[in-house]
Amino acid sequence: MKTQNDSRETAIEIFVNLIEQLRSISDVKLERIRDAQFNDAGVQKALVYTKYGWPEKETCVDVPAREYFASRGELSVSNGLLLYRDQVVVPEELRTEIMENLHEGHMGIEKCRERARTTVWWPGLTKYILAKVDSCQFCQDHKPTQRKEPLKVTELPLRPWQKVSADLFDHKGKNYLIVTDYYSRYIEIAYLQNITSSQGNGEAESGVKRAKRILDQDDVFIALMAYRATPIVATGSSPSQLIMGRQIRTTVPVVEKKLVPKWPNAKNVRKRDTEYKRCYAYHYNRRHGVRDLPDLDIGDEVKVKLDGEKIWSAKGVVEEANPEIRSYRVRTPKGVYQRNRRHLQLIAPDDVRITPTYDKLLSGDLNVTPRKTVPSAVSTPHVKSSTSTPPAPIVDKSMSPTDVSDNTYTRPKRLTKLPTRLKDYEVT
Ligand SMILES: [Zn+2]
Repeated sequence: MKTQNDSRETAIEIFVNLIEQLRSISDVKLERIRDAQFNDAGVQKALVYTKYGWPEKETCVDVPAREYFASRGELSVSNGLLLYRDQVVVPEELRTEIMENLHEGHMGIEKCRERARTTVWWPGLTKYILAKVDSCQFCQDHKPTQRKEPLKVTELPLRPWQKVSADLFDHKGKNYLIVTDYYSRYIEIAYLQNITSSQGNGEAESGVKRAKRILDQDDVFIALMAYRATPIVATGSSPSQLIMGRQIRTTVPVVEKKLVPKWPNAKNVRKRDTEYKRCYAYHYNRRHGVRDLPDLDIGDEVKVKLDGEKIWSAKGVVEEANPEIRSYRVRTPKGVYQRNRRHLQLIAPDDVRITPTYDKLLSGDLNVTPRKTVPSAVSTPHVKSSTSTPPAPIVDKSMSPTDVSDNTYTRPKRLTKLPTRLKDYEVT
């Protein structure tokens, strides 16, 4: 684990240097916005209206300031700077450039919007973002996908680093460890030199996907920083806010007061996260018409799909049941298997046939579809670090020591099995 710590320290060092560098960039940029605002007729006019009152009708507003009319209720003036809520109003001249900054990290539409929400604004910003992301090949190529499975709502931990997930993955022939904090969704990516083969199979797991998306970019550190500085939709706060108690500087200028340490209200964060996840899971499950498969009991007769088999040939009996994580141990004539519920079909005593719905649910039919705004934690998984009992994380134990090559499924696994030695990975 030494290498891991070393590379992690190096990463932190580089990151700190980068922040130092960016501090000046973003100060300079804020100054440029100030200058540009000063030279922009629309902003100047809107500034005067904001100070002394807007006309009642839009038609009475001077043409250059009309685009601000609809948002006049949210405009204010601070230190001679026109603001929209807490966001700096960007004059036309700089919009293209700032749009480039917002798009850094290629995080998609929602993330760009969230990022802007805490930093900059101009009329029609959302349309700019849509156009930018739609026209970006990288963003289009990396649109996340997701599987149609009932989502279970996971509870937000009480504090940062209480519960983390750790996944190994390889990317372009190199091995990495990604650690995700469940509370803030803060991530650390460490390059592992001494691991010969990647043992995680986290292709479809959202943390790993996020990491790969970051590593794919020209400037990994900018991308990582952009992720950390961008509010997570579920909590309404960025990972850095929840870990460090303040927003970090990025290439997108922020008003000074956002950088002053101020912890987001933990109660509100929790409430928002819970509501978001519940709401998300509800709509997700409805949209895809999925439903939970009924829990199995010890002694139930089931059909199992075995390695290399496309059909449900093997019959077995449930020996051990962990319905809360949808995992079951099944004894069959060919051996004992640990299986996820979706790999098992209950054989009803008087009817061994499978109902069509079941069939569809259990077959590879319900697969990967493009997703837009999956909150990290809802589909994020995996390892519980702490001793607390989890109603939460869904651990797929479909690959167990008795059954290591689960290759029959060509679709990516949503949940990742972790190497045993990392099972109790804990960050303190
Ligand atoms: Zn992009």
